[in-house]
Amino acid sequence: MIYVVSQLTYIIASVLFILALHWMNAPDSARKGVYAGVAATTLAILVTWAEPTVIHHVWIIVALAAGAAVGIPLSRVPLTAVPQRTALSHAFGGIAAGLVGTAEYYLRLSEGPEWLTPFRMVALIAEIILGYLTFTGSLMAAGKLQEVKWVPQRPVTYPGQNAMNLLLLVAAIALAAAIAMNPAAWWAPLLFPAIILMALVFGVLLIIPIGGADMPTVIAILNSYAGLSAVAMGFVLDSKLLIVAGALDGASGFILSVNMSKAMNRSFTNVLFGGFGQIQTAAAAQEARPVRSATAEEAAAILSAAGKVVIVPGYGMAVAQAQHKVRELYDSLSKRGVDVSFGIHPVAGRMPGHMNVLLAEADIPYDKLLEMDQVNGDMPQTDVALVIGANDVTNPAARNDQSSPIFGMPIIDVDRAHTVMVIKRSMAPGFAGIDNPLYYLDNNLMLFGDAKAFVGNIVKELSGNSGGH
Ligand code: NAP
Repeated sequence: MIYVVSQLTYIIASVLFILALHWMNAPDSARKGVYAGVAATTLAILVTWAEPTVIHHVWIIVALAAGAAVGIPLSRVPLTAVPQRTALSHAFGGIAAGLVGTAEYYLRLSEGPEWLTPFRMVALIAEIILGYLTFTGSLMAAGKLQEVKWVPQRPVTYPGQNAMNLLLLVAAIALAAAIAMNPAAWWAPLLFPAIILMALVFGVLLIIPIGGADMPTVIAILNSYAGLSAVAMGFVLDSKLLIVAGALDGASGFILSVNMSKAMNRSFTNVLFGGFGQIQTAAAAQEARPVRSATAEEAAAILSAAGKVVIVPGYGMAVAQAQHKVRELYDSLSKRGVDVSFGIHPVAGRMPGHMNVLLAEADIPYDKLLEMDQVNGDMPQTDVALVIGANDVTNPAARNDQSSPIFGMPIIDVDRAHTVMVIKRSMAPGFAGIDNPLYYLDNNLMLFGDAKAFVGNIVKELSGNSGGH
């Protein structure tokens, strides 16, 4: 009876995990998706805990308390720190899988070698290699994103690096294969820690040649590794739920990283081995060229005279936390009969869906958030494109300049609107570290200032003369 209930609950939890991912697809159902994921995890923990084989309840309580002590503060980080927070979660997932695999090997070995069949050993070794390399790799990624002092931001590369990394991985796999074939040999438990050590070192070596700039994509890949490690753990522990949840995690992480690479026009191998971020210091040093700038009053007048406005937000809107002011601007312009929509670039900000989350937080109607292709089609008929803290995702060099490091990256064609206005604090480059020729175009006006303050001032100007055009 208990068995039937637990198996049924596992099926319900698996369905909830699948629904959670499905609901995450759209902003209006994403919250439901989060609840479904939390419910599935809670069910999984409770049912596993209720298994008659579980006898050390105190340890489970200690583990839950330790998880809560780390998890609750982690859930409170600001939205801009979510990429590194996510990397830390993957590190915890990786180390958990690695430790479970290690414990399982030594425990089963002491009980007699029959359990350690070749199939289980292969799964166990895949689990520990992926788990431990995800652990150190994710810690490095989190360190780079948080700009921790002792973790270099720039890619660290040297000749023969890829060959050396590959050699280490091959050595770890060869040793793992030898142990998998002879799990009970006298030397196997002695050499097992060597695989762990190699996987830990490999995780670090995998990340150091990759610049801080590519970390969000790398995190999605590490997410995928953590998922695969959980699948392997599912086979070791004979847990179908772990296999389902891990496979969902592994596949979605992989699809996400491929999509992010596409949106940046980078190949997967270029992200992993390209050393992106090294070339930009030279490109960033530009001589001063004249640009036209405007005040909040002038910007308000131009916006209120427009029929169609497209707002293109970027990382700067997130830094300034300007989304609520942007909502006020949207309300104010809409009230005057201006058609306002938002152009969302898939990699605007620092994590997938960054802009959607912020704008949803400010209750901007979802149907006003248009994807890049949709908004680009309308751009020539747009009176004003208002760029708020976005830079790279609007850089026309990606379209025109073959020598640009971002050449080929799809962008939002704000330069094709009648007038472009860009809110940012200075002429400083964005994430890719390169100059933006948009700022020197005749139809462009720079609105220098903090995004929140500047948008606030425009709103004030608009309400100050609400009489209209
Ligand atoms: P961006 O190119 O990094 O530009 C952001 C701009 O915001 C900066 O130039 C900065 O200029 C301005 N800014 C910063 N703080 C501000 C504030 N308080 N008020 C006003 N402006 C402020 O950002 P993006 O256009 O959103 O492009 C995203 C970049 O991240 C792309 O290169 C993309 O490839 C990369 N990326 C994104 C993801 C993702 O998942 N979204 C993942 C990996 C990489 P000032 O300093 O002059 O103010």
